[in-house]
Amino acid sequence: MTLETKGVPALEAQALSKTYGGRAGVRRSAAVRAVHEISFSIPKGSTFGLVGESGCGKTTTAKMLLGLEKPTAGELFYDGKPVAQKRDFAKLRSSVQAVFQSPSSSLSPRMRVAELITEPLIAQGKASSKDAVQKHAPRLLELVGLGASSLDRFPHEFSGGQQQRLAIARALSIEPSVIILDEPVSALDVSIRAQIINLLMDLQEQSGVSYLLIAHDIAVVEHMSHEIGVMYLGEIVERGPASAVVQQSKHPYTKALIEAVPVADPDAPRVRAVVTGEPPNPMNPPSGCSFHPRCIRAMDVCSVVKPTFMEVERNHWVACHLYT
Ligand code: SF4
Repeated sequence: MTLETKGVPALEAQALSKTYGGRAGVRRSAAVRAVHEISFSIPKGSTFGLVGESGCGKTTTAKMLLGLEKPTAGELFYDGKPVAQKRDFAKLRSSVQAVFQSPSSSLSPRMRVAELITEPLIAQGKASSKDAVQKHAPRLLELVGLGASSLDRFPHEFSGGQQQRLAIARALSIEPSVIILDEPVSALDVSIRAQIINLLMDLQEQSGVSYLLIAHDIAVVEHMSHEIGVMYLGEIVERGPASAVVQQSKHPYTKALIEAVPVADPDAPRVRAVVTGEPPNPMNPPSGCSFHPRCIRAMDVCSVVKPTFMEVERNHWVACHLYT
């Protein structure tokens, strides 16, 4: 997807890092580099997709954007303003919402739908309980394609796809400018996925909300995203327009991720196993390019010199010695 981007981005990360542990002294602990100097921006009304193996730092990145984790270094901007002070993080938490993989575990089983989807509104003092239930709840249900007859029901009375619609309605209740979508369709039946994806895209078109999309399904990420960042061991190793990153990927790791996607056609050529071994230990990342122990294109320089992030085509960036 392409998007004309003008004005201040909804969210922007500049050299954002998060390291856990690393204490000296009696209670010393090894430093775990979860996210290291990642930069990207999410223009208003657009979707930025993050892909990579589990443990690559996607969830830590999402937590920082939600204001649940404080960055160790780097800068975060919300609507053009730096998020640095305690009150900035509080504002971030009240402005950025999230939809998670498993709707059944993110919806309280004891609350009726009307209270459930309007709880954030009431918690933030944006509506009285009466207004929330009588005015906002029917409107939110209609937005996500569920009827007013659902208002008095409990989440367990709904199918998985309907529960995810409820989770989306709840996230939309405070009219956030950004929603973090963390694997929003991966727990759903294949037949339901397209409906939820289309709903999310329609809602974006109507409201101008921005998304950070985390998903392991490259096809879903390409379909929904305007830009994609590929993460490996806490770093973004390739970033650019979604079609360029997927159709003309540069980094050997991105190519490996794409080639590992199963193909439905039984006559199609077999998938090449291009990434071998496990991701390295983030407490002791490899020297040079952190992907070099697993890279089939590795050269002598790769284990010694860290590649810099270079713009190889317009707005298409990659960190790899093959392009320097
Ligand atoms: Fe592979 Fe070297 Fe490029 Fe790293 S820098 S991805 S090891 S070719």
